Amino acid sequence: MKKISSFLIGIVVCNSLAQPLPDRTISEGVELSLSRIDTGVTSTPEAMIMKGGRLFTSHHTSHTAFLLKHPKGLFLIDTGVGQKIDEQFYDLPFLIRPFFKFTKITTVIGALKKEDPTFDPQSLSGILLTHLHWDHASAIEEFPQVPVYTTEQEHKAAFKKSGKEVGYFPSQYDSPKIQWEFAKMTNIAYGPFPQSKDLFGDGSVIIVPMTGHSEGSIGFFLHLKTARYFFVGDIIWTVKQLKQGVQKAYLASSLVDHSRPVLQGTIELLQRIEKENPDLVIVPTHDLDHNKKHIPHYPKFVH
Ligand SMILES: [Zn+2]
Repeated sequence: MKKISSFLIGIVVCNSLAQPLPDRTISEGVELSLSRIDTGVTSTPEAMIMKGGRLFTSHHTSHTAFLLKHPKGLFLIDTGVGQKIDEQFYDLPFLIRPFFKFTKITTVIGALKKEDPTFDPQSLSGILLTHLHWDHASAIEEFPQVPVYTTEQEHKAAFKKSGKEVGYFPSQYDSPKIQWEFAKMTNIAYGPFPQSKDLFGDGSVIIVPMTGHSEGSIGFFLHLKTARYFFVGDIIWTVKQLKQGVQKAYLASSLVDHSRPVLQGTIELLQRIEKENPDLVIVPTHDLDHNKKHIPHYPKFVH
């Protein structure tokens, strides 16, 4: 019986893996614009970033927040590092801190206020988080009353694992005032993903599960007029990993990834999606050189 059910599960998984991404179908009149704000950067030997990376080639990592304009308002995808990052860093064990060193550039609020000194943080319509690790969630408490979208699973993991898994800094999201919105995906497949959620109900932003890095990570497909984007969070740190189908460097991965076997499956899925959809721009949050080519820095937007 067990063999038969494993076989059937195998067929379902294989069939779902074989599904191509659906065509872009967005409600009329809905247009998205996208920009990025690099809040911090660091340069690291590629060998410390990805398996098989070169020792004398530098990889440029950024802690980036992305701004998304939708008819329903202005949204953030991840927040980069915020104004309180120095004190938040005390959540990290002392010996681990050197691994996460970076140079600060700005904050989301700093960049927005530079363009418009009257910018009101409460005017933001929502924060969409790929996951709750420190370099993605650092600034959420700077936007009071703004809904913060994550999955219930990620939210639970972030509180359960606080202080044990080094990626989560509880001081970033322990305010009882945060308005959590749990993105509940349904069993409606989106291409090879067995579950999905059409965030605004208009086809412009689709949420899918991104398993392996943290317990409840999610990815976002964005459908702009000129291009399709797929935000994959920290499943990979550089698109070079997709060319070779490899994970992060072992030491880094052992510090930040939840399940390496599951992650390997997700990386292979991304490899296939990239191959079958050459027009799709895959966006790993931290791949600065790659993201610079496809998403302009604020105040410029791509449409
Ligand atoms: Zn990250």
